[in-house]
Amino acid sequence: MEYVTLGKTGLKVSRLGFGGIPIQRVDAEAAGKLLEAVRAAGITYIDTARGYTVSEELIGQAIEGHRDQFVLATKTMARDRDGMAKDIQTSLKNLRTDYIDLYQVHNPNLQQLEQVCAPGGALEALMEAKEAGKIGHLGLTAHSAEVFEKALDLPWVETIMFPYNLVETQGEALMAKAAEKNIAVIAMKPLAGGAIEDGRLALRYIRQNPNVTVLIPGMYCPEEVSKNVEAVSDSSPLSDEEKARIEEIRQQLGTNFCRRCNYCAPCTVGIGIPNVFLFQGYLRRYGLGDWARDRYNAMAAKAGDCVECGACEERCPYHLPIREMMKAAAKDFGA
Ligand code: SF4
Ligand code: SF4
Repeated sequence: MEYVTLGKTGLKVSRLGFGGIPIQRVDAEAAGKLLEAVRAAGITYIDTARGYTVSEELIGQAIEGHRDQFVLATKTMARDRDGMAKDIQTSLKNLRTDYIDLYQVHNPNLQQLEQVCAPGGALEALMEAKEAGKIGHLGLTAHSAEVFEKALDLPWVETIMFPYNLVETQGEALMAKAAEKNIAVIAMKPLAGGAIEDGRLALRYIRQNPNVTVLIPGMYCPEEVSKNVEAVSDSSPLSDEEKARIEEIRQQLGTNFCRRCNYCAPCTVGIGIPNVFLFQGYLRRYGLGDWARDRYNAMAAKAGDCVECGACEERCPYHLPIREMMKAAAKDFGA
């Protein structure tokens, strides 16, 4: 395992971090085995969030007794002082620790970022917690380039998390600027939310970019941990065959694809929006028609139920034309 310095924080972390989204799907026993595999592999950076339901709690329980071997990073959507103070306390309790290494402002838009920094905003609580020794460093996560750019000029920002993978390279120039300022770049969505099937190639692609400090694929089981470690450990240049495969995947996915982040929820009529697109992807791309139809048909609300209210589109950080995409999915599935 390669270890790097996390930008201005000065923390030493493994280049491969543990993404804490998929752990929500396992029980406490499986989470214990998963984190044991993470520890054995030498992965020291753990990313979670207040918003990932039980993720903080499962991680806290699984690493108890080994806390000092990890750099813990979490985040919250709280934008005001009181909400942030409350969430920091909850994170500390969930993670079973008295100190969190990195606390991040989770995906603010420009207006929310202003609120965070204004009097009474979340930054006040973050600074207080830092002074009290409850948290060590501050960062921010973003999905839009404009927020990334703005964050580069905020003196308190020590790390920026941004989506980066072989089909989402829009952050590359800003990542280079961050590196110049010694702000750590944490690459999230390395598999584009699961849209890229070839995990090894996806991680190897990111590994080639020297401006990425840490990459954090979500990990679900010990086998996935091993595969990710193997992929990231291979620092050899991409072969011509791999480059051709990358181009093929780019052609296949285009830009209007769902990253399964679920920021669009809740749908007004209860459609599981990312699931619709997931099943449609399988139907169209991989010839798994029966599998996709069975799962689609089991959904209580289907694409055809969309009332075109547009509420989801306002929340989608990728500005996907969800209403149009729902119509296409309804046509594909016939419902
Ligand atoms: S536009 Fe359709 S999919 Fe989006 S929230 Fe409204 S009903 Fe749901
Ligand atoms: S439609 Fe947009 S917000 Fe919803 S899961 Fe997909 S990418 Fe995320």
